[in-house]
Amino acid sequence: MRASDHEPGIVLDGVSKTYPGGIEAVRAVSLVVEPGEFMVFVGPSGCGKSTLLRMIAGLESTSGGRIEIRGRDVTNLPPRDRDIAMVFQNYALYPHKTVRKNLGFGLKVRHVPAEEVDRRVTEAARLLALENVLDRRPNSLSGGQRQRVAIGRAIVREPTVFLMDEPLSNLDATLRVGMRAELRALHSRLNVTTVYVTHDQVEAMTLGDRVAVMRDGNIEQVGAPQALYRSPANVFVASFIGSPMMNLVEAEVRGGNVIFRGLEIPAHPGRRPPRDGQTIVGIRPESFEADQFAAADLPRVDVVATVVEELGSESHVLFPVEPSDADLVATILGETQARRRIPGDVRTFLTAKVDARAGVKTGQRVRLAVDASALHFFDPVDGASVPQVPESSPGGSPRG
Ligand code: ADP
Repeated sequence: MRASDHEPGIVLDGVSKTYPGGIEAVRAVSLVVEPGEFMVFVGPSGCGKSTLLRMIAGLESTSGGRIEIRGRDVTNLPPRDRDIAMVFQNYALYPHKTVRKNLGFGLKVRHVPAEEVDRRVTEAARLLALENVLDRRPNSLSGGQRQRVAIGRAIVREPTVFLMDEPLSNLDATLRVGMRAELRALHSRLNVTTVYVTHDQVEAMTLGDRVAVMRDGNIEQVGAPQALYRSPANVFVASFIGSPMMNLVEAEVRGGNVIFRGLEIPAHPGRRPPRDGQTIVGIRPESFEADQFAAADLPRVDVVATVVEELGSESHVLFPVEPSDADLVATILGETQARRRIPGDVRTFLTAKVDARAGVKTGQRVRLAVDASALHFFDPVDGASVPQVPESSPGGSPRG
């Protein structure tokens, strides 16, 4: 615990960035990152997350607004005076220096006494399991070890804030998952305020205490991973968080029943939109289940499995629904973000995530149960979440 723990870690107050040429990369973003918090900025490529991180680091100037770190206005301070340490995607290690020298170099140039450098390097090497490679050079290390050296270099600085820009993107899938767990464990031990940028929502959800979902230079929603998953504020967050992505379709609510694209889901007494009319309905793939594995009282729909992706414990079943005249979802989200497509097939498909033991095969007719208590509803014009009649009974959702 530090003495100043009652102060916010990082305060962003209306921070914006317009690049020469007029590109508004970040638009008046305000956010408080608590001390010791692991905050993730996530969003598609070009949404402004790196620019925002680089402004916190001082590597990019702001066009407006204020940045505070631990109660100190750093908006116009150079990076070296902000008490931050950065980890980048390309590790930028010195190839001719040993791991030990790579770890200690940043301290040496800051005239930290040799004994202190030794102490910190030894401690970081222990934390990161690099003790056995301290006298090797980076080119003899694995990708994961190199990334650990890059992280170690940030740790030895003992900064107030870690800033990480896609640090795991260069690793293969297995290493990435391993390093993700290591980063999370490291954070629990060091408790240093961290801002982490990624385009990968799974990485965001697994690492972040809170996640800020960005689009077009704005933060669309900030919250704990479960809050974003359960209560997305709009169709963009709904489509971005969760895998496979939430199915989003135009629907008509009539007497509480949800009617869309040739399917009808009966009203759920505990959870339904407040009024009848046009809406966008969101159904997570995991809110479907194969008939024989679902509770008997859930409504059923009959579909044809056009594509079945088998993933071991579960299968993803893609089935077509009738086309609609007004593609509101694509209007709000853009065509690529709006839904999954099957190449060479113009139809719209929904995805159901079902128990693999159901043995669904391509081309088969399948009866699916739908958990109507887990439906999401969005405004058909602006895509904002529509409040629902609150769930009266707990435990309505089948699988988290
Ligand atoms: P992200 O990290 O989310 O991919 P960036 O912050 O890198 O997004 O970029 C946000 C927007 O700013 C993009 O439209 C990008 O093309 C633009 N941009 C980024 N860096 C510069 C730059 N140095 N000059 C001009 N435009 C830039």
